[in-house]
Amino acid sequence: MNLNNNKIFRIDDVGASTKQFEQYGKWKIGNFWFLKRSWPFKKWGPYKELTANEWENVFEVFEKNNIKSMVAITASWVEKDSSLTPFPQKFPEQAAILKKALQEGKVEIANHGLTHCIVGKHLPRFWGSNRKFHREFWPDLPQAVHTEHILKSQEILESYFERPITIFVPPGNVWSYKTYLALRKTNIKKVISSRYMIDSNEKMQDIEFIDDKNGFFCLHDQDIYEKNIIN
Ligand SMILES: [Zn+2]
Repeated sequence: MNLNNNKIFRIDDVGASTKQFEQYGKWKIGNFWFLKRSWPFKKWGPYKELTANEWENVFEVFEKNNIKSMVAITASWVEKDSSLTPFPQKFPEQAAILKKALQEGKVEIANHGLTHCIVGKHLPRFWGSNRKFHREFWPDLPQAVHTEHILKSQEILESYFERPITIFVPPGNVWSYKTYLALRKTNIKKVISSRYMIDSNEKMQDIEFIDDKNGFFCLHDQDIYEKNIIN
């Protein structure tokens, strides 16, 4: 596998409480030979947010290997009691490293939702998977929820990073026509996902759809953990 090409290395779920609350079985990803050799972490649990130090190491590795990177941030952490803490307040040191990397042109920052989940249904259930509730933009939710989540997440990210956020990566590849209507009120110019809108084939205006099966390596921190890349 050649990683030194034009593919963009995308890390999702940064700042998302989904990594803590979503519970489901293992799934397989490809063989990231390059990470096995040079990934800087010794331990990376599925429930842990990267530290500021680890982020610095990540960008070092990317730079050394000429990797273009994109980080898809979920703008708020959903606490157990369903309150939301904006990413820059929940993880101020990590946010600062990402902001610096952005300013230095080392990374692109994308919007990965406000919550990644249905707030209030995000805690693990006694029985079975709660995966459905760790998708944010289901078509049966009211338009007002789509609009509020999109606008709020953009506001948090744009005011912290001090520049327009133009890329939206729908959590779990689930988004719908209502999400698109909400995106039209923002600076978003691209939707990057493995799937088009779940409930519509309508062509978008002023927003481009990019299928991430081409041109991206998509990772979650949990993937890296489960592949034992870091051991
Ligand atoms: Zn995600």
